[in-house]
Amino acid sequence: MLIDYHMHTRLTDGVGEPVEYARVAMERGLDEIGISDHCPTPTFLAECNMKQSDLPAYVAMVSEARRQFPQLNVKLGLEVDFVPGCEPWVRELAGMYPWDYFLGSVHFIGDFPVDRCTEDWANTDVEQRWRQYFDLWGQAARAGVFDSLAHPDLPKKFGFRAKNFDYRPYLKDVTCAIEVSTAGLRKPCREIYPAEEFLTLARQFEIPITLGSDAHIPQDTGADFDKAVALARRCGYNQICRFTQRKRELVPLG
Ligand SMILES: [Zn+2]
Ligand SMILES: [Zn+2]
Repeated sequence: MLIDYHMHTRLTDGVGEPVEYARVAMERGLDEIGISDHCPTPTFLAECNMKQSDLPAYVAMVSEARRQFPQLNVKLGLEVDFVPGCEPWVRELAGMYPWDYFLGSVHFIGDFPVDRCTEDWANTDVEQRWRQYFDLWGQAARAGVFDSLAHPDLPKKFGFRAKNFDYRPYLKDVTCAIEVSTAGLRKPCREIYPAEEFLTLARQFEIPITLGSDAHIPQDTGADFDKAVALARRCGYNQICRFTQRKRELVPLG
């Protein structure tokens, strides 16, 4: 099966509505998609997040895609920023609608924006930032409030990489899935998130995967999924996760 669980709409920093993403998904032969717009955050600010008052419109837009494309499974998800202490809010959010899954993301190290621009990285201590990022990532992985973690090695986005970084300590206690994201191929790093070395280790730790394009325009739905499937297979995966109202099942990859 091919399932794309990461895409954004006009309510945040994407273009278009779920029906348009669903139409492209059908054309590309995907079996299922999930809409995962940036969730509202009451206690910390990220410019591109939804307002809580947008949630009913968001849920209605996903329902409309389900209505127009009954032959495609369209899941209701969210991309949720992880910051320390966010868990009570994420649990509250979980009770508001019949979500299928939450993607957890680390976009900020304190007030340092991990994926904003290359200048941020050119003027920082790269080794230290990677350690700080993965410390937060490890906390997100153990938080018990996410179903999959999006773009796992996001700090490489602009090509600034820590040398000989050891991912193993962070992969030890992961209790959710991780995303294999083709978005990195469209970024300066020109590489799927996570790197092959990371994904090989994740397989050894028996961490399951989801697939995502992180599409911000409908045309990117399922983008480069042939490459994601090939990478996952090389790393030893033959199954991906599917989520229904936050219950996980494993289905064949590809
Ligand atoms: Zn993200
Ligand atoms: Zn995203």
